[in-house]
Amino acid sequence: MTREFKHIAIIGIGLIGSSIAHAVRKNELADKITGYAKTDATRAKALELCLVDQICSTAADAVSGADLIILCSPVGSYAALSMEIMPALKAGAILTDVGSVKGAVVRDVLPHVPAGVHFIPGHPIAGTEQSGPEAGFAELFLNRWCILTPLADADPRAVERLTAFWRSCGSNVEIMTPEHHDLVLAITSHLPHLIAYNIVSTAADLEQVTSSEVIKYSAGGFRDFTRIAASDPTMWRDVFLNNKDAVLEMLGRFSEDLSALQRAIRWGDGETLFNIFSRSREVRRNIIAAGQDTAAPDFGRGGPKTQ
Ligand code: NAP
Repeated sequence: MTREFKHIAIIGIGLIGSSIAHAVRKNELADKITGYAKTDATRAKALELCLVDQICSTAADAVSGADLIILCSPVGSYAALSMEIMPALKAGAILTDVGSVKGAVVRDVLPHVPAGVHFIPGHPIAGTEQSGPEAGFAELFLNRWCILTPLADADPRAVERLTAFWRSCGSNVEIMTPEHHDLVLAITSHLPHLIAYNIVSTAADLEQVTSSEVIKYSAGGFRDFTRIAASDPTMWRDVFLNNKDAVLEMLGRFSEDLSALQRAIRWGDGETLFNIFSRSREVRRNIIAAGQDTAAPDFGRGGPKTQ
């Protein structure tokens, strides 16, 4: 366990911000945590849950004197927050974030970063469909990847310190460019969320099948999409608005492949269907082999499975 920072400031205390606070407490990664959230209710809850030592009514107050500042609010809020906090940042501080897109974060934050502050964007690939300060837990980042996207001229020592921080939270750390991050995440995270939101919304609009039947027979597959589609609407609105090009590129490919499946079904081409499904099954096996999910049937939920 490496202790790189004395004072950590967390801006935005929802699922990710509160999980970081828990991980910092549990692993004793700082002497002091200060925090800021938008509403009085979240600020009060953060104190009540002892997530922070001090809660501030402005983001500028929360970052004052901090060695590590982590933006944990929806990415659409970063530009305004950056303008507010930059004058209050101490020289030598590391400014990072957890946003699910990286190119737009660099676009919105970098122009405001003063000389002497190390800006290293980041994204822990860990989450749940829950949100808010009560949703967090220290183990969220355990054995999950955290991607850092330092800019070409980033200070290697600052990158090392941030890497050590995420490792102390239990994560494995990978470095890549913001552009590559956005492309990878478009297919592994953003498109799956879009598909889940769409399938749930299609089911909600069906006329021939009642909504009670959709719920009753959801274990046939629909249920798993509803978990993803229950994710925070503000966060996901901001993701799609800020990773437009990569998502549209992946959506184009997805639509082509969907048309191929549609064609195979129409023409009774079982061989094509079988081959595509077999290849997909292999991907699932590889995810389990990489320790990124449980091998237990039905995600370890237990109980009889309905197909
Ligand atoms: P969340 O649970 O909804 O929490 C968001 C937090 O940001 C809340 O404390 C909220 O304060 C605060 N906030 C909202 N708007 C703000 C603003 N304009 N200025 C300052 N604070 C503001 O969200 P989350 O799931 O933790 O996501 C936070 C970030 O992590 C996002 O950038 C997201 O892309 C990224 N991320 C999420 C996941 C995931 O699975 N959820 C995974 C990896 C990364 P109030 O409660 O007071 O409104």
